[in-house]
Amino acid sequence: MSKQSTHLWGIDLGGTKAEGIVIGPGGINDILFRDRVPTGAENGYDHILNQIRTLVDMMERKMGYRPARIGIGTPGTHDPGVGTMKGCNSECMNGQPMKADLEKRLRMEIAIANDANCFALAETRMGIVKEKFPNANVVYGVIMGTGVGGGLVVNGHVINGLQGIAGEWGHNFLDESGGACYCGKSGCVEKVISGPDLERYYHSLTGNKLPMKEIYDRYKKGTDEAAKKTMQRLTHFFGLALSVIINIIDPDVIVIGGGVGNIDEIYTDGIESVKKFIFNHRLDTPIVKPMLGDSAGVFGAAYLVD
Ligand SMILES: [Zn+2]
Repeated sequence: MSKQSTHLWGIDLGGTKAEGIVIGPGGINDILFRDRVPTGAENGYDHILNQIRTLVDMMERKMGYRPARIGIGTPGTHDPGVGTMKGCNSECMNGQPMKADLEKRLRMEIAIANDANCFALAETRMGIVKEKFPNANVVYGVIMGTGVGGGLVVNGHVINGLQGIAGEWGHNFLDESGGACYCGKSGCVEKVISGPDLERYYHSLTGNKLPMKEIYDRYKKGTDEAAKKTMQRLTHFFGLALSVIINIIDPDVIVIGGGVGNIDEIYTDGIESVKKFIFNHRLDTPIVKPMLGDSAGVFGAAYLVD
């Protein structure tokens, strides 16, 4: 086996930056390249593709070769049925055949997945699952932050699904009080327990617009009834939403990422709420925090080609 065949190349495409990485056989302690370029998304789709090509050229100069395959993590989803992107926050990418366009431009095979899938994959292969639950076969990863997403990893590989939506719990119906969602439906998980929607709920009770962090600080002080209600809304609906995942796939471990996922009460009151709603008398499923931080996106992108 050549040395090159043990290297994993990946790119995490964000809203403003694209980050590239080359990981050697030593994994997290063997990063051979890591750098980023601005996407310049305001200049349109074609410009983003050119910036990705610039990044891959930088990677090639450093590594001295060009691989046959590269993984790309994106903010939206590649629809394998029609070959185009959907749900990207850089809207110029939606409806574009990005996988095919990049394969042409980069002269490489592209493995593409959304950021929640990359998060789940990275925490499985390099992060908390590898460290603490090395025998886990089925891993469900959740990102709860500005948006809510999820990814399913089985035997170390992302399950994309027929339509590219496997694991996408963020737009499951949860509660009508969430109201209309950009996806065209209403009451989605994301519209109830994402950071901006919890802030919106607090605002509806108080007329006061505060960031989630401030609402949480007020909750901790114990004097703000609306902050307490906001936290109860989070933990109650977190449990209801996650119970659906456990009832259907019963994963070996669940990893919760994102800013909202970092709130400690998720792991106490939130887990108590999960217990109320699952189809079992006890909850054995470990529900844990991740360990890779912001690096999970780019690490996971690289592992898409493994
Ligand atoms: Zn939705």
